[in-house]
Amino acid sequence: MSAAGVVIVGAGQAGFQVAASLREAGFTDPVTLLGDEGLPYQRPPLSKAYLAGKTDAVGLCLRPAAYFDEHRIARRSGVSATAIDRAARQVRLSDGATLAYDHLVLATGARNRRLPVPGADLPGVHQLRSLADADALKAARGAARAIAIVGAGFIGLEFAGLCAGSGRPVTVIEAADRPMARAVSAETAGFFTQAHTAAGVTFAFGAGVQALEAEAGRVARVRLADGSAIDADLVLVGIGVVPNQDLAGAAGLAVGDGIHADPFLATSDPAISALGDCARVPSRFADGQPVRIESVQNAVDQGRCLAARLTGRPVAYAAVPWFWSDQGPHKLQIAGLTRPDDASVVRPTEGGLSVFRFRDGHLSGVETVDRPADHMAARRILGLGLPLTPEAAADPARDLKALVKGA
Ligand SMILES: Cc1cc2nc3c(=O)[nH]c(=O)nc-3n(C[C@H](O)[C@H](O)[C@H](O)COP(=O)(O)OP(=O)(O)OC[C@H]3O[C@@H](n4cnc5c(N)ncnc54)[C@H](O)[C@@H]3O)c2cc1C
Repeated sequence: MSAAGVVIVGAGQAGFQVAASLREAGFTDPVTLLGDEGLPYQRPPLSKAYLAGKTDAVGLCLRPAAYFDEHRIARRSGVSATAIDRAARQVRLSDGATLAYDHLVLATGARNRRLPVPGADLPGVHQLRSLADADALKAARGAARAIAIVGAGFIGLEFAGLCAGSGRPVTVIEAADRPMARAVSAETAGFFTQAHTAAGVTFAFGAGVQALEAEAGRVARVRLADGSAIDADLVLVGIGVVPNQDLAGAAGLAVGDGIHADPFLATSDPAISALGDCARVPSRFADGQPVRIESVQNAVDQGRCLAARLTGRPVAYAAVPWFWSDQGPHKLQIAGLTRPDDASVVRPTEGGLSVFRFRDGHLSGVETVDRPADHMAARRILGLGLPLTPEAAADPARDLKALVKGA
């Protein structure tokens, strides 16, 4: 490489990791990390410790500002990349500047999907992706009299868990017939339906939102498709995200539910790579099919993988996908990549839950609740590709750790 070095667009979890791993690997050319927010920070605590007041904005930062100076990572904050000139190998920025690159990394993440109904922009309607969103939600939560959450996904349920028991009605509205329907088994969904309900959360399943209605210029209720209404002066919309792929698409790169990248994280232009929430990458855990994964693990491991390639040690991305979600007092952990129709085998446990998922007789993933040892063992089993039968998974006498140790 030459003087322009590596330019990383998006200073989130993935962009930060590429920069840090490049320096760890001894990369000496310039590294520029540009993003439209401030210092790179962790998003998971936004719906957990940060909203609960257990950590502050400084505690969210992945590294203090001095780290970037010490590691010669040039930060350009509060600025967006607006266009890529692939022929000239330049990025155009929102402040009018252009930045030359030898290699460009797209780590632009994802943005929240908007609720396509009247009233979705009313005061009192929130979403949660950024620190600014979390600050607004935190401020609104204290004064709210009734809370409605549209979407029973991870973020909606984490917020429900934080709000439950505060003496205010908390209603979760979900179009499917159970929570986290795309991500977890019916068994795990059932566990959390019960746990949240016991904590005082009300669920409206199979419910479509028709409009958010106002009183005195603020949201006052959620009108459902069946005509009924749920009173709420605070509404959190958590109905998933869409990848930030417009920059890549406008530059002629292959996109479609994410920026298409190969197993080495190269896009259709070898001088440009993509990773993290914005990228769609073939996975051995999806029978080689391309998948877009929204998790810290994916952002971090892809960051390391890309830095290895850019420093002359190319390895195809193959890390075991894993994820966690803290809901009320419970920790959900997921390893592997499952599909809704994968078979479920519940391993008998004392407390918590361990659900092993099988596709064509092979372990595809494991969901555990408050069972960290089962989660860790399952991650190793998946990573090593060890054979585990549904019968063995269902037998509590079969020691999973011993299986891993013996491999
Ligand atoms: C509230 C919340 C809770 C979560 N909880 C968990 C959890 O418990 N476990 C878990 O594994 N994952 C969790 N996640 C998901 C996890 O945070 C993401 O998967 C991870 O942050 C992805 O990293 P990323 O770098 O790909 O994207 P991001 O972290 O979104 O970073 C992308 C950055 O690029 C910026 N950007 C976009 N376009 C441009 C542009 N054109 N120019 C400049 N900058 C640009 C964005 O503003 C952003 O700062 C959570 C996410 C949220 C929002």
